[in-house]
Parts: sequence; C-alpha cells; structure tokens
Amino acid sequence: MNSKLSEIHNKLQSKVFEVLRDATDSINTDAYLIGGYVRDIFLQRQSKDIDVVCVGSGITLAETVKNMLGRRAKLSVFKNFGTAHIDYLDIDIEFVGARKESYSRNSRKPIVENGTLEDDISRRDFTINTLAVKLNREGFGTLIDHFGGLYDIDNLIIRTPLDPDITFNDDPLRMFRAIRFASQLGFFIEPETFDAIERNRKRIEIVSAERIVDELNKIIMSPRPSIGFELLEQTGLLEIILPELTALKGIETKEGIGHKDNFTHTLKVLDNLAKTSDNLWLRWAAVFHDIGKPRSKRFDHKSGWTFHSHEYTGMKMLKGIFIRLKFTLGDRLKYVETLVALHMRPTVLSDDEVTDSAVRRLLFEAGDTIDDLMLLCEADITSKNPEKVKHFLNNFKIVRIKLKEIEEKDRLRNFQPPIDGLQIMEIFSLPPGRIIGDLKTAIKDAILDGIIPNEYDAAHKFLLMIAKEKGLLH
Ligand code: ATP
Repeated sequence: MNSKLSEIHNKLQSKVFEVLRDATDSINTDAYLIGGYVRDIFLQRQSKDIDVVCVGSGITLAETVKNMLGRRAKLSVFKNFGTAHIDYLDIDIEFVGARKESYSRNSRKPIVENGTLEDDISRRDFTINTLAVKLNREGFGTLIDHFGGLYDIDNLIIRTPLDPDITFNDDPLRMFRAIRFASQLGFFIEPETFDAIERNRKRIEIVSAERIVDELNKIIMSPRPSIGFELLEQTGLLEIILPELTALKGIETKEGIGHKDNFTHTLKVLDNLAKTSDNLWLRWAAVFHDIGKPRSKRFDHKSGWTFHSHEYTGMKMLKGIFIRLKFTLGDRLKYVETLVALHMRPTVLSDDEVTDSAVRRLLFEAGDTIDDLMLLCEADITSKNPEKVKHFLNNFKIVRIKLKEIEEKDRLRNFQPPIDGLQIMEIFSLPPGRIIGDLKTAIKDAILDGIIPNEYDAAHKFLLMIAKEKGLLH
C-alpha cells in the first residue's frame, strides 16, 4: 500500500497539481482527481487527460485554475453541461461538478442533479475507474477507494461498482467499454459482469453507431485485438453489430473432410497484423478479409472445401457494412476494398512461378496499397506448422524482391497508359464509343504483359498496329 501512495505522490509533484490544490482551497470546496488518470497511475500508463470532480461548481474551479495558470492556459466553458475544460501545455484538464444520475428506458442521456463524491463515484462504469485522489491541501494525495478498485487493478478485473444489470441497462455503451478495457489492458471481465452483458446485449440497439465504432476502433488498436472480439462474440454483441463476422464461425465436415474455423483464423490474422502495423484501416481490412467465405463455400468430392472468389464476394459486402457502421465512404472504403479484393493475389503469385507480367498486374491494381497488402498477406499465414510458415514467408520475400525490381524498372504504381481515350479519338478521328475503350485496354494489357515498354512512342506504334488489324487504318 505504501508503494501505491508513493506512486500517487510522485505523480502529483508538478505545478499543475499545486495549482489545482491551491485553487480548490481558495474557493472553499473539495475536489478530487478521478477516473482514468488515477487508474493509469497504477497501470504505469501515460495519460494526459486529467479528470477533476469538484463537490460544487466545476466551472468556478476551472476559472480559478485558469487565473492561476496564466495566459498559457486556454479555458472552455460548457454551461449547459456544467463542465469546463483547460488546455495547458500538452495537458487536458476536464472539470465537472459531482453529480447524481438517473436514467430513462429509451436513452443513454441521464437526468443529472448535483451530488456528493459518493454519488459521483457510484455512477461510474467500472471499479477500476472509481478511484479518487484528494486535491485539497488537507489530505492532499489521499486515495479514496470505495469499491475495491485498487484490488481489481492488481488482479486485472473489470467489474461494475453497482449491480451490473442496472449499470448496463442504464447505459448500454458500458458493455462495449467493458470489453474494450479488457482488450486494451489485458484484463478479465468478472463472471457476474460478463453474464449481465450477455443478458443486456439487446440494449445496445439504443446506442449510436458512432459510439460503438469508437470503442471498436480502440479494441482493434489494442495489443491483442482478438481478446476483445472473442468477448464480443461470447456475449452475443458481435452477432448484433457484425453478423458477417459471426457467420465465419464453425467447422463443417463432409466425407471426413473439414475446413478451418474462419472466425478463429480471422482473429489470428488480426493479432498477427497488430504486431506489424498500427494502421487502423489496415487492421479493419484484416477483420473483413474473409467475410466473403460463408457465401462462397462449396464442397466438391475431388477438391474438398473451396471458397472460390471469396475475396470479390467479400469486397462487395463492404459498402453495406460501411454504411451501417456510419464509416465515411470514399478513399477509406476504396482502400479496404482493394486490400480485401487482392488479398489472395500475392499468395497465388508465390505459389506459381513468379512471372513479371503477374507482378506488373498486381502493382497496377494495388497502386499505393501494395506495401500494406504484403503486410496483410504475411499476417494471413496462420499455419501451426513452422516449416510451412517459413516456406510461405520466404515466398513472400521473393514476391517483395520481384515487386521492387519491376517497380524500379517500369514505374507502374499509379500508372496511367501513355495514350488516353481523347488522344485515340483524335488520332483516328473517331467519336466516343466502345472501340476507344478496347484500344485503350489493349495498350494497357500490352504494357502489363511486357510486350511494349511504358512509353508514348512504343504505345503509339502498337496502337497503329492493332488499329490496322481491326480495319481502322488501311
Ligand atoms: P480512455 O481515455 O482510454 O478512453 P477513460 O477511462 O479515461 O479511458 P473516458 O471516456 O475519458 O475514459 O472517461 C473518463 C471517466 O469517466 C472514466 O474513467 C469513467 O470513470 C467515466 N465514464 C466514462 N464513460 C462512462 C460511462 N459511459 N458510464 C459511466 N462512467 C463513464
């Protein structure tokens, strides 16, 4: 316990906390550090967001603190919410008056009244977030732990301070927050809390997609995102928000032949990728890379289970999911679509003898996503056989070398054929029509197949030749 106290005292040795202490005393009130900031002291996590709860007006305390910190502190006041915010150097301080909340059935928005510190602490989501540290000079640095938050931090436990059914029923977003904290911190959800999530899962329907996605993004960005996705699946929340993923679950066996569980596989790919990239959208591509599989699954006596074209089926499902989750479309959708659609290509390339032409086509279609595509494909190797893993990784190394060689030679990334449709119409005095598209494609294919170099003169000569064949020139 003493070492815990010294952790708090070390953390409080800075000008900001001295000012918070003096400001609190000067307006004759009580104030406490609370929530994530206190939790993170014990988890040795860096946190720049300081939450202060004041028994009285949070706004008055914030104004006093602002005056003491001087010009470099920027104050924003939100009168309607009774909160205020100070931006000081690289620190954010949020001020709120201690409150008591009551909820109605159809909304996450509570009716708020002024309350005591105990009221305020009890309305918080998890015991690990209920710890408070006194800011007044008298008792400065004292830890208040009504719900055993410190014990739960030490034992890696996520538990609600009150009856979990009430906690989750009041604000169903907390179910996602529980799973997010478990995933982010590597904690375990205590059984009663877990069962209450399962029981209240349908309540998630009153929460906006934006809020849910905020938590999902944090799950995806955690060190082992599979922890979060497994909990989402076990509690039944995943089925409600992403049924396309739960459809990947299970192994079917016919004539003694089974296939792998594509849900477990997807989570392994996501965990693998979390070790090599912190690009959120690349990680989303890993989540979605096999979603076309259930719809493409076939059984054949000779070849067993096949999932032909699942990458294209999956790509086509993405727009609907993006709209439902209220993601922005545009470039982001295009990026994930490209990755999902092409994720089998480097594998096929490495299985066959790698021809220049196949590599050129891949570079042309992947454009700037090529490096991320290779990371996804490497993460997609989930075999338990180390020899196989070594073999596949080695093949991808060869593909990477080939990609680099061809890229340097032919500059095909974001390539545009050297003669465009307008020029073709001009050369042959033709109106717009299908033939123009055919000629353009013929030039593009000739370049990708290595028949001609990626240059104007060669393309022009080639164009005249095929035009002659098609009877356009005599
Ligand atoms: P992070 O910064 O990683 O999101 P945090 O715990 O600081 O974690 P915030 O969303 O900033 O999360 O919330 C600050 C504090 O407010 C929390 O520690 C918790 O005590 C409380 N809190 C936030 N959201 C809720 C909620 N939906 N229900 C109850 N208490 C909440």
